[in-house]
Amino acid sequence: MIKNLSELKYRCKVCGYIYDPDKGDEKRGISSGVQFEDLPDKWRCPVCSYTKSHFYQVKDGYRQEV
Ligand SMILES: [Zn+2]
Repeated sequence: MIKNLSELKYRCKVCGYIYDPDKGDEKRGISSGVQFEDLPDKWRCPVCSYTKSHFYQVKDGYRQEV
Protein backbone atom coordinates (compact mmCIF):
# COMPACT_ATOMS: atom_id res chain seq x y z
CA MET A 1 0.00 0.00 0.00
CA ILE A 2 1.24 3.45 -0.86
CA LYS A 3 0.08 6.10 1.54
CA ASN A 4 -1.00 9.57 0.58
CA LEU A 5 2.06 11.41 -0.64
CA SER A 6 1.18 14.41 1.48
CA GLU A 7 2.21 12.38 4.51
CA LEU A 8 5.67 11.74 3.19
CA LYS A 9 8.64 13.71 4.37
CA TYR A 10 12.19 13.61 3.20
CA ARG A 11 15.31 13.96 5.29
CA CYS A 12 18.70 15.16 4.19
CA LYS A 13 21.15 12.43 5.04
CA VAL A 14 23.97 14.95 5.18
CA CYS A 15 22.66 17.32 7.84
CA GLY A 16 19.35 15.86 9.01
CA TYR A 17 17.13 18.63 7.66
CA ILE A 18 13.58 17.40 7.01
CA TYR A 19 11.53 18.67 4.11
CA ASP A 20 7.88 18.73 5.16
CA PRO A 21 5.43 19.30 2.28
CA ASP A 22 2.96 20.76 4.78
CA LYS A 23 5.42 23.56 5.40
CA GLY A 24 7.31 23.88 2.14
CA ASP A 25 10.41 26.04 2.02
CA GLU A 26 9.39 29.67 2.27
CA LYS A 27 12.90 31.01 2.10
CA ARG A 28 13.30 29.53 -1.37
CA GLY A 29 9.85 30.33 -2.63
CA ILE A 30 8.43 26.85 -2.15
CA SER A 31 4.89 27.16 -0.88
CA SER A 32 3.26 24.68 1.46
CA GLY A 33 1.69 21.68 -0.24
CA VAL A 34 4.53 21.18 -2.72
CA GLN A 35 5.63 17.57 -2.66
CA PHE A 36 9.31 16.79 -2.45
CA GLU A 37 9.13 15.08 -5.82
CA ASP A 38 7.71 18.24 -7.33
CA LEU A 39 10.53 20.45 -6.12
CA PRO A 40 12.64 21.86 -8.94
CA ASP A 41 15.76 19.85 -9.67
CA LYS A 42 17.86 22.81 -8.73
CA TRP A 43 16.31 22.96 -5.27
CA ARG A 44 18.88 22.25 -2.61
CA CYS A 45 18.91 21.57 1.08
CA PRO A 46 18.50 24.97 2.78
CA VAL A 47 20.95 23.96 5.47
CA CYS A 48 23.85 22.26 3.70
CA SER A 49 23.06 22.96 0.02
CA TYR A 50 23.30 19.36 -1.05
CA THR A 51 21.04 18.28 -3.90
CA LYS A 52 17.77 16.35 -3.76
CA SER A 53 19.59 13.09 -4.41
CA HIS A 54 20.94 13.28 -0.88
CA PHE A 55 17.47 13.02 0.63
CA TYR A 56 15.67 9.89 1.66
CA GLN A 57 12.06 9.29 2.52
CA VAL A 58 10.86 9.19 6.10
CA LYS A 59 7.44 8.18 7.33
CA ASP A 60 6.18 7.89 10.87
CA GLY A 61 9.64 7.31 12.24
CA TYR A 62 10.31 4.60 9.71
CA ARG A 63 12.99 5.48 7.25
CA GLN A 64 13.76 4.06 3.86
CA GLU A 65 16.62 4.67 1.53
CA VAL A 66 15.44 6.08 -1.78
ZN1 LIG B 1 21.21 19.09 4.31
